[in-house]
Amino acid sequence: MEKLIVSKFGGTSMGDAAAMRRSAEICKKQNSRMVVVSATSGTTNKLIELSKTAEQGDWNGCEKLIYDLRERHFTIGKELEIPEYTRTKIADLLAETETLARGIHLMRECSPRAFDRMQSFGERLSSLLFTEALTQAWPTRTVKNLDVRTVLATDAIYGKATPLTEKTAENAQRLLSNLRTENTCYVTQGFIGMDPQGHTTTLGRGGSDYSASLLGEAVSADVVEIWTDVDGIATTDPRLHKGARAIRDITFTEAAEMAVFGAKILHPTTLTPAMRRDIPVFVGSSFEPEKAGTWIRREVKDAPIFRAVALKKEQALVTLSTPKMLNTHGFLSRVFSVFEHHRVSVDAITTSEISIAMTVDRPMLTHEALFKDLRELGEVTIEEGFSLVSLIGNSMNHKPGLAVKIFGAIEDINVRMICLGASKHNFCVLVQEAQGPEVVSRLHQALIEC
Ligand code: ASP
Ligand code: MG
Repeated sequence: MEKLIVSKFGGTSMGDAAAMRRSAEICKKQNSRMVVVSATSGTTNKLIELSKTAEQGDWNGCEKLIYDLRERHFTIGKELEIPEYTRTKIADLLAETETLARGIHLMRECSPRAFDRMQSFGERLSSLLFTEALTQAWPTRTVKNLDVRTVLATDAIYGKATPLTEKTAENAQRLLSNLRTENTCYVTQGFIGMDPQGHTTTLGRGGSDYSASLLGEAVSADVVEIWTDVDGIATTDPRLHKGARAIRDITFTEAAEMAVFGAKILHPTTLTPAMRRDIPVFVGSSFEPEKAGTWIRREVKDAPIFRAVALKKEQALVTLSTPKMLNTHGFLSRVFSVFEHHRVSVDAITTSEISIAMTVDRPMLTHEALFKDLRELGEVTIEEGFSLVSLIGNSMNHKPGLAVKIFGAIEDINVRMICLGASKHNFCVLVQEAQGPEVVSRLHQALIEC
């Protein structure tokens, strides 16, 4: 039986008519059954700016942004010579964008629900254009535009909705049951979904990768492909360190650690649905599709101790101290239930008898409700200006002499916090932000290039 492939294309792969044509050729070559697209590059940022500008009452500013959005999408449409009815659909969506901006402007208020709806226009517009690009490239297939909101069900937490996987699978069963056999390729939107009341939601910035994996799970795909603007995953960010090398094969666990700990290539939650279903994920460049890319699978042949180094900037260290922690139980669980309640994630943690230190993304420091609740548990101190540098690999907790090797490479660097032992796939150090790139280079040189 033919493989069922779900392919996702990011914003740069949708950036203009040429990029869309190139991406369409890839879909045809790969024989994709479902294509998930991001908004054209920069469009989500524009829509966010439009919401803010409307909320601030600056209608002239809004008009300029709406003009830019029109220009961008109609230019691509013109270059692709799209038919009149698709042009009308695009015009209707842009008119709706303007109406929503007027509503926000009138109220001087942008509710989280309105904000998600505003952000959804990017993917809805790009997917209409891409449907035409693919129709032209692949005349032997019927290409249909699918409103992903009829499939991808989520809760109603706007801005970072949680997918409802069972409901999503049910929808896919109902609407796409012939996906493997029918002569159709569906083009659909990443990043957005629908809550139980029928309102549009978003999965969080960069969420289209996650959408592709969720849809792959829902339709029981054989492969999920993520087409982006770099040739797969590298051992570190090549902009940080020239010695970075391409990784050809990597496990789900390692790739997930990399995504969570700062490697920009995949949205951190992307791999969870693929892992649940054991669906291999391919990451490649839509600009150079002939290059090898990276395969992410449950198991791969080699399992090096050090595979990659990731950098996560803008970290703050939150320390909570209280003598109440002395000889008590349940304290940590109270601390984490506060984080859970506010949906804030903690990356690295260390504890002592009376204190617990945790890293959070710096923007979280403005979360007043979170800190109010934490202060009820103990004294809170905050230090800013750190980066988390993580080594990702295998069996790190079993290797004698590992710490000596790592610290030998960075012995003159002031390390504020260390996390080793929690995962055999990760070792991380918290350092001053300015020293982050240097630490990445040194660890890469000493442990990966050696
Ligand atoms: N368009 C959305 C964003 O820019 C989602 C994505 O591209 O994955 O965040
Ligand atoms: Mg992206």
